[in-house]
Amino acid sequence: MGGKEIEALIDQLARLPGMGPRSARRAALRLLQAPRVRMDPLVNALSAAAKAVRTCGQCANLDSTDPCTICADPNRDRSTLCVVEGVGDLWALERAGVHRGLYHVLGGTLSALGGVGPEDLTADLLLSRLRDGTVREVILALGATVDGATTAHWLAERLAPLGVAVSRVGQGVPIGGALDVLDDGTLAAALRARRPA
Ligand SMILES: [Zn+2]
Repeated sequence: MGGKEIEALIDQLARLPGMGPRSARRAALRLLQAPRVRMDPLVNALSAAAKAVRTCGQCANLDSTDPCTICADPNRDRSTLCVVEGVGDLWALERAGVHRGLYHVLGGTLSALGGVGPEDLTADLLLSRLRDGTVREVILALGATVDGATTAHWLAERLAPLGVAVSRVGQGVPIGGALDVLDDGTLAAALRARRPA
């Protein structure tokens, strides 16, 4: 097929989530057929995003500013903090507009099989955020998987001595580790159906 530059482009596209070799070839072809209209804006957006991306020092969200837009927003409810596994879950909750408080991105769940231990998560950062007493409720919006449940239990135990209320999103909601596949109504229901951890 094409030269090595084109093969490299297809190879990189094929690594993206939701893409396989076939869809990567189609995407590459579409870009290559109109470089100025399709390729250049993509190259510019990728380059700008790569230069700008920061991990928020407060909540571990990804943004172009640190603190992130959410942490810096004076209109957010600072008494409620929603703990999610990943940035994708935060984006899903924001898109649905169901949470007006702050977030904390844990960076995954504890997993014996996956070799994920407490040191791989941002739990210490979370605990340090709670020390000044501003946050009064922590909502654990972790996946309804075994690892999600284990992590929620582990976090709830560490949060208990701090005197904050700890709740979990509705147990009957099929979160399954990926909030971003749920529709907005289900997400809203999950958050409303929270109960003490
Ligand atoms: Zn933040």
